[in-house]
Amino acid sequence: MKYDCIIVGAGPAGVFCAYEFMEKMPNAKILLIDKGKNIYKRKCPVNEHLLEKCPVNREGVSGCHPACSITNGFGGAGAFSDGKFNITTEFGGWLTDYLDDNTVLELIKYVDQINLKYGAPKEITNPTTDKVREIERRALSVGLKLLRSQVRHLGTENNLKIQAAIYEDLKDHVDMMFETEVSDILVTDGKVTGIALKKGEIIDSDYVFLGVGRDGSKWLEDMCHKYNIHMTNNQVDVGVRVETNDIVMEEINSNLYEGKFIYRTSVGTTVRTFCSNPSGHVVIENHSGTMLANGHAYASKELGSHNTNFALLVSHKFSDPFDLPNEYAHQVSRLANELSCGSIIVQRYGDIVRGRRSTQKRIDEGFVRPTLTEAVPGDLGLVLPYNTMKSIVEMIEALDHVTPGIANEHTLFYGVEAKFYSARPEIKNNFETKSVEGLYVGGDGAGLTRGLAQAGANGVFVARDIIKKLENNSLDKGTE
Ligand SMILES: Cc1cc2nc3c(=O)[nH]c(=O)nc-3n(C[C@H](O)[C@H](O)[C@H](O)COP(=O)(O)OP(=O)(O)OC[C@H]3O[C@@H](n4cnc5c(N)ncnc54)[C@H](O)[C@@H]3O)c2cc1C
Repeated sequence: MKYDCIIVGAGPAGVFCAYEFMEKMPNAKILLIDKGKNIYKRKCPVNEHLLEKCPVNREGVSGCHPACSITNGFGGAGAFSDGKFNITTEFGGWLTDYLDDNTVLELIKYVDQINLKYGAPKEITNPTTDKVREIERRALSVGLKLLRSQVRHLGTENNLKIQAAIYEDLKDHVDMMFETEVSDILVTDGKVTGIALKKGEIIDSDYVFLGVGRDGSKWLEDMCHKYNIHMTNNQVDVGVRVETNDIVMEEINSNLYEGKFIYRTSVGTTVRTFCSNPSGHVVIENHSGTMLANGHAYASKELGSHNTNFALLVSHKFSDPFDLPNEYAHQVSRLANELSCGSIIVQRYGDIVRGRRSTQKRIDEGFVRPTLTEAVPGDLGLVLPYNTMKSIVEMIEALDHVTPGIANEHTLFYGVEAKFYSARPEIKNNFETKSVEGLYVGGDGAGLTRGLAQAGANGVFVARDIIKKLENNSLDKGTE
């Protein structure tokens, strides 16, 4: 059987691509494949109390087969998150490198409407209140740009219900295969002709969309090397997780929940705040064997701390001949792991300014109680490159004008926090690879997005582009 289009990956990019086919070309033969499980079977053995801890191997890869149910399967990587759906083109991806702002925003709003249709909460944050304008004005006066966005909190329980409702509609119109890994793409004379499954089967189609997410990005890289698709990846974000008392962040927390600011430093870098967690906890993230700082916040107030944490990240771009940005960030982070005997380092801002290490005594005497008690007091000056540290110090001093007290002596810096990006295949403005006709890429795995909204928007755009081609092809056949 030959399909009109094969979609690999049932994350937001793949699901909204399939959804658009169902809406706009209901008779098209579409196949959606994912190596993870369908929405009802996605269960983590740790959450189900079948295992005590996650069976990760030394490289940090899940030992669950066919794939980790937390990050793979229908709904993709964020299916179990509280689903903050950001209606903006200012962050969440780089689709505007290929499409104009209005087109991307319209696509995001279109996906938002689909979520609403399937039960997303009607409430949405309002970033245009007088109070937010006042915060924005204070920020601009010291060179900080506030990135404003309407945010619809889908909520963890709703997120899964919305996914299940979309799944129920899709399954009557689109063929779906789960627990099925795609191992190869088939290419003849520069044109895609189908895919090969790990279990040996071959499935034909003139159009293949790869929305394989972060988990599939290594495989996508392998495919690109195999079929001579040029890739670029020269950015990585390196920085620290900042922790302070809730009271210092109260105005931002209550008016914005998350204040996203960017700053251009005197050394030419860009720094941004990211992933703010009011009444949250700092945690260690094991990223392929490298220990990194991260943070989260429980929804329940009883489980909350008295601290707010957020990341301060400096974007690093490299030029020829260096093209291993992710490896660079791993090396910097591993230095902190070495100095803290396999953990991460915590240091008071006052000690950073004085150029001395934090000791347990200095941390104990501080006014901010660390929520990550296993972080080892030390000196981030021995880890972070000069420009990175200088950028972070400039940013925190600027932020002090917006949230007075953030640059105080006792604020804690945990390091290293890093964000890695997938390499980006060379594509045309319609997300079709330049060297293989009919092969489209999208979402987080192709380094084009980093959030639900733009990943979904990407999928819808790709479906519309393929539909146009299928319609033209059938017109051509009709006139032959
Ligand atoms: C814990 C967590 C919380 C998050 N919270 C938010 C949030 O609140 N707001 C927000 O905007 N974003 C959030 N994100 C990010 C968001 O989930 C991602 O940006 C989004 O899921 C990317 O969508 P995608 O379709 O590109 O890829 P994914 O969602 O990663 O889906 C890719 C799918 O492809 C499948 N796949 C990969 N390789 C193969 C293969 N070879 N064969 C078959 N199938 C394959 C995988 O199994 C996976 O299901 C969160 C992410 C995580 C991990």
